[in-house]
Amino acid sequence: MASAPSKLYADDVSLLMVLLDTNPLFWSSSSLTFSSFLSHVLSFLNSILLLNQLNQVVVIATGYNYCDYVFDSSLATNQGSENGRMPALCANLLLKLEEFAIKDENLHKDGSEKGLASSLLSGSLSMALCYIQKVFRSGALHPQPRVPIDSCYIGSNNSAFLQQASYITGGVYLKPQQPDGLFQYLSTVFATDLHSRAFLQLPKSVGVDFRASCFCHKKTIDMGYICSVCLSIFCKHHKKCSTCGSVFGQVQSDNGSASNLKRKTT
Ligand SMILES: [Zn+2]
Ligand SMILES: [Zn+2]
Repeated sequence: MASAPSKLYADDVSLLMVLLDTNPLFWSSSSLTFSSFLSHVLSFLNSILLLNQLNQVVVIATGYNYCDYVFDSSLATNQGSENGRMPALCANLLLKLEEFAIKDENLHKDGSEKGLASSLLSGSLSMALCYIQKVFRSGALHPQPRVPIDSCYIGSNNSAFLQQASYITGGVYLKPQQPDGLFQYLSTVFATDLHSRAFLQLPKSVGVDFRASCFCHKKTIDMGYICSVCLSIFCKHHKKCSTCGSVFGQVQSDNGSASNLKRKTT
């Protein structure tokens, strides 16, 4: 990644990339409805834009079949005609989000049986990193991208993937105890710019689950099979690596000793 120029503006100017998980299968079972979640998030995005008029917010929707940009505050079409950012932001974002959800659902219907119904978070993360690279190369004066990954996780269990992503990048991982007050969590924890964080007592993670997830079911596992060619991890034995196509040998019958890992036998 290109090295980031340090301070280009006198004040802290942030580029905030927001990855929204829109997976309907998750939200249908969540205690917090997607519409109320969205109202908290919209208020949060507005507060970021109000903190500094040079701040930039980009929202990427993460579905279970594809990902797409649904909002970019730097685009001219988002500027409110009557000096009101709020209506313009809400209208544009909600419209794009609705189009996205319909397309995501249609792709699911057209798709094959392989749909595991997990959100494509790695895809939207890649899009965010590409956008940040574009901003770095856009010229001398640009908002400072926030490279730490902050995670706000809503659900019953913790997400090992997000815990690790936040831990490795120096971001904050937070699982709100009271999702009804989500805006307060977002505004007090995630709205703080990187400079201010040095002076604040932000929530510290109580523990990080460093276990790996299998490539086949995206489940966190203690032990598994690893492809010796590409290091893909699987929870059970496969004849062939789904990532690189390497053909595996048979499972050893006495695998009770040192390791349960299966190596490619060629
Ligand atoms: Zn698996
Ligand atoms: Zn492989």
